[in-house]
Amino acid sequence: MTIQSTIFSPAGDSAQPSDANPIYDVIIVGTGLAGYTLSRELRKLDTESSLLLISQDDAAYYSKPMLSNGLAKDKSAADLAAQDAQAMSDNLQATIINYATVSRIDADKSCITVNGGELQYKKLVLATGALQIKLPIKGNGADDTISVNDLAEYAEFRKRLEGIDRVAVMGPGLIGCEFANDLASIGKTTVIIGPDQYPLERLLPPEVGAELKQGLSGLGVEWHLGTFVTHIDRLPESGGEGTGGYSLALDNGETVEAGLVLSAAGLKPDCSLAEQAGLAIGTGIQVDRTLLSSVPNIYAIGDCAEVCGLVLPYVMPIMHAAKTLAANLAKASENGEQAAAMVSYPGMPVVVKTPAYPLVVASPAPDLDGSWSVEQSAGGVVASFLSPEGELLGFVLAGDRVAEKTKMGRKLPALLN
Ligand SMILES: Cc1cc2nc3c(=O)[nH]c(=O)nc-3n(C[C@H](O)[C@H](O)[C@H](O)COP(=O)(O)OP(=O)(O)OC[C@H]3O[C@@H](n4cnc5c(N)ncnc54)[C@H](O)[C@@H]3O)c2cc1C
Repeated sequence: MTIQSTIFSPAGDSAQPSDANPIYDVIIVGTGLAGYTLSRELRKLDTESSLLLISQDDAAYYSKPMLSNGLAKDKSAADLAAQDAQAMSDNLQATIINYATVSRIDADKSCITVNGGELQYKKLVLATGALQIKLPIKGNGADDTISVNDLAEYAEFRKRLEGIDRVAVMGPGLIGCEFANDLASIGKTTVIIGPDQYPLERLLPPEVGAELKQGLSGLGVEWHLGTFVTHIDRLPESGGEGTGGYSLALDNGETVEAGLVLSAAGLKPDCSLAEQAGLAIGTGIQVDRTLLSSVPNIYAIGDCAEVCGLVLPYVMPIMHAAKTLAANLAKASENGEQAAAMVSYPGMPVVVKTPAYPLVVASPAPDLDGSWSVEQSAGGVVASFLSPEGELLGFVLAGDRVAEKTKMGRKLPALLN
């Protein structure tokens, strides 16, 4: 199905360029939390710059974290879409083009190609997000797996869940466990499969991972850990209606059957546009503390960005980066009236949405030397990741101890200062 792009212009239109071949002061590629949060921050400082946002999707504003607890809250995709593109255009005094793909950047000419046409910018921001990692699985059902990384995929997920009792989730990480909790809470039998020895293996000490596993098992979640899916094959339909489900062959020789397979194997920064334009890429689009890439006038923010070596695909880093980048994009900064703003990241604990076993995780900065010290009590767990000198570098709170998030968060060293 082809959906035509629409151009949404704000009522009043004060900040829009008027000539036939406009040069936008700022063009943002992407209308996820990064693109829209940045736009809001920019408008707090600067109501004059012409602003254009472009999105491959419908450009509705929604909170992505709600995708993995929307079933328990009985939220449809339409419920989660807090504001549509027209409302966002009006609020932000911005032009928004939806269902449009930016296919090329010509940094020398300061222009981008969108749906075959060219648009010019003074400043360009890439807020292209992250892509699901596709697992190398064989079988005639391998392409039927679903992943949920935007509103359209969430709508598809809800539709395909209808009449399905048993769901396989590939990936025992944070997002896989959140979806498993959500699925189990509405009565779906959920099977988690993945190579790790325990859930959230990269974030939790083993004893806390074991308790999370137990908590989810209490909701009926089943586990196949230490192995992975090699083949997915469609099962023959029995009643002539609907799907016959899938048979998943595991590396350890076992087989799992499920009516739907959800892939939650992780996300990687979407650097495709940046790569084509010759921007420096590491794990993500490399930017400095001003959020500027290796190419003048091109910036990156959100899940696609690697800020001074850090790829932090969470909401709080976006909030901090958006304030900084807005200051650097605002007219005053362009006129040289202000020194460039630099982003700082404090320690930023993340709430894991597994109500079966409440968790807060504050991961230490990568490559830091240290070890876990775990304190268990009747109310829950406080696990501290300590340097060899005893300094707190990260922590995990579980059970009732999640209430200590703010207190513990204050003790964390900054990730970027
Ligand atoms: C299920 C789930 C649950 C989560 N829960 C939490 C949580 O509880 N707490 C937390 O802190 N974080 C959570 N996260 C992470 C958090 O939601 C993300 O860090 C954040 O939403 C990323 O926003 P973004 O704008 O960078 O990317 P996205 O929201 O992915 O936006 C990318 C945008 O770029 C557009 N785009 C891409 N390429 C092009 C192109 N070439 N042309 C035009 N448009 C393009 C897309 O259409 C889209 O509009 C969760 C993530 C997921 C998937």
